[in-house]
Amino acid sequence: MVKPISCLLQTASQILLRMPSQNVRTTLLPTPCTTTVAPTPSKSVVEVSDSPVKSSPEMWRPSLLLYHCDRRILESKTDWLNDRIIQAAQMLLQRQSEDIYGWNHPLCSQRNALFPPIPRNSKFIQLMNINGNHWICVSNVAQSDTLRNCARVYDSTLETINAETKKAICSLLKPKEDVFHFDLADVQKQSNSSDCGLFAVAFATELVYGGSPCSCIFDVTVLRSHLLECLEKGFLTSFPSKAKRVGFGKIVKWSSRDAINCTCRMVEDSLRPMIQCRSCKKLFHFDCADIVSCDSVNRANWMCDICKHVFLH
Ligand SMILES: [Zn+2]
Ligand SMILES: [Zn+2]
Repeated sequence: MVKPISCLLQTASQILLRMPSQNVRTTLLPTPCTTTVAPTPSKSVVEVSDSPVKSSPEMWRPSLLLYHCDRRILESKTDWLNDRIIQAAQMLLQRQSEDIYGWNHPLCSQRNALFPPIPRNSKFIQLMNINGNHWICVSNVAQSDTLRNCARVYDSTLETINAETKKAICSLLKPKEDVFHFDLADVQKQSNSSDCGLFAVAFATELVYGGSPCSCIFDVTVLRSHLLECLEKGFLTSFPSKAKRVGFGKIVKWSSRDAINCTCRMVEDSLRPMIQCRSCKKLFHFDCADIVSCDSVNRANWMCDICKHVFLH
């Protein structure tokens, strides 16, 4: 039975609340402030969004589903942005960019089925949570010639695109092609452990306005106050940039081409065993092909459903 969306979204939100305590972070990733990752009031934005918005004294910007505790995060110098703030920024950017798709809830990458499909050959921007503790911006807006099988990652921390990010992008796009290109944009890096959300919003805003995040040096002293002001006004403007990057010439810092497998259209995952179809030679996950274990299947003779259908008819 299919779970109601509200139920899945709530679960996704709970994943974020739970993960920082599991010590899954690497030293490269920012350290979210535990008080902001588990904000009070405990209602997440997605729970609230299922019913008509009711203004209450706890709410700072009811139309964006933001609470006063979210405002305090932006007023602080180091608190990590939560999913409500990221989603509020996406709501504004979506209103300001009618021809750009994406903008799904930033925790949905942890739940395959929740992404509404992005139309083929369409532009998209998506803010995403990776590993439960890091915000990034993913888009194809600056890649008009290869919209179909390419995504560019704007990440203020990491120097490569990790497996979690690739999986999240595949969940979003469900690539039809058997090879997908992942590009890491050469962008400004954060200088502390908590500003990834601000940078992700700043990159997305720059893309909406047709600029290049790669050429910006944002003024980190005003990132928080700028976002706070924009959320108050209900309109996002470009984040103040101190200067254009000197010597900027490269857009892509790192890239990879990955095979996309199976009916679930996913990059390779060492934790999920796969089986090859003897006819089409394509690879499928055991769980996607309803195979319980290695012992329960004849690997040399196995055929995927499509080939089986062709063979039998
Ligand atoms: Zn699969
Ligand atoms: Zn096959």
